[in-house]
Amino acid sequence: MEYKHFSHPHNLIIHRAYELGKQVNCSGCDFPCDNTTTAVHACHQCNFFLHDHCANAARYVKHPCHKPHPLILLPYPTYAGSTFICNACNRPGRSFSYCCALCEFDLHVGCAFLPVSVTHRDHEHELGLYYGVPVVPRRGSNIDQEYCNICKNVLETRNWAYCCRSCDFNVHTACATNEVVPGLYQDNSPESGAVEGPGPAAQAGGSGGNGVELELTEDELAAMLFELKLQMMAQSIATMGNIK
Ligand SMILES: [Zn+2]
Ligand SMILES: [Zn+2]
Ligand SMILES: [Zn+2]
Ligand SMILES: [Zn+2]
Ligand SMILES: [Zn+2]
Ligand SMILES: [Zn+2]
Repeated sequence: MEYKHFSHPHNLIIHRAYELGKQVNCSGCDFPCDNTTTAVHACHQCNFFLHDHCANAARYVKHPCHKPHPLILLPYPTYAGSTFICNACNRPGRSFSYCCALCEFDLHVGCAFLPVSVTHRDHEHELGLYYGVPVVPRRGSNIDQEYCNICKNVLETRNWAYCCRSCDFNVHTACATNEVVPGLYQDNSPESGAVEGPGPAAQAGGSGGNGVELELTEDELAAMLFELKLQMMAQSIATMGNIK
């Protein structure tokens, strides 16, 4: 079947991944579309492909990591240089992002939908998702940097991590999982309750207590998108000015 996706000017065709007969990357998250069990949404003339979960990502989420504002799904970054730096993993992105334009806060789609907890063969306990590494202050240690217990590379403490608090076992999100849980943090999503547990909610900072429920009507969303468009226009005018 064919349909129109908001991120692409042409109709997309839905395939099984193996029907493509070649290795392609998702234009939403830049990761390979090699999962043969789910669909891939394709525009062949443009070499444009989307994972099923990237194509179906909600237009906005009320993410517990950024409680003041909803995060809006943008098909491409509006920043100069057409890249954003993900606030979760600190890596650049050039495709889809969940963005708060007011705060210049951006997440990869995959980072936005990381599971709240995971298990990994390198550790006997469940690992919880933290929006920043919960550091135990140690004499002489650098509180801005820890080391990932899986890859042994530097783990910036301001980045998200999977942690076992009792063992002080902290790892990069990408080292712990490549799982994506689409559908988190949407209206009435049953999963959103899970993040209010002792893990990430405790790290989300700010208000405490029950999660801030931000109810958005269609009108408010439209107004927000309009505001965002104005900002994007202002930005592109500014960029054009720089080129002259
Ligand atoms: Zn994808
Ligand atoms: Zn196309
Ligand atoms: Zn990321
Ligand atoms: Zn914000
Ligand atoms: Zn690592
Ligand atoms: Zn442990």
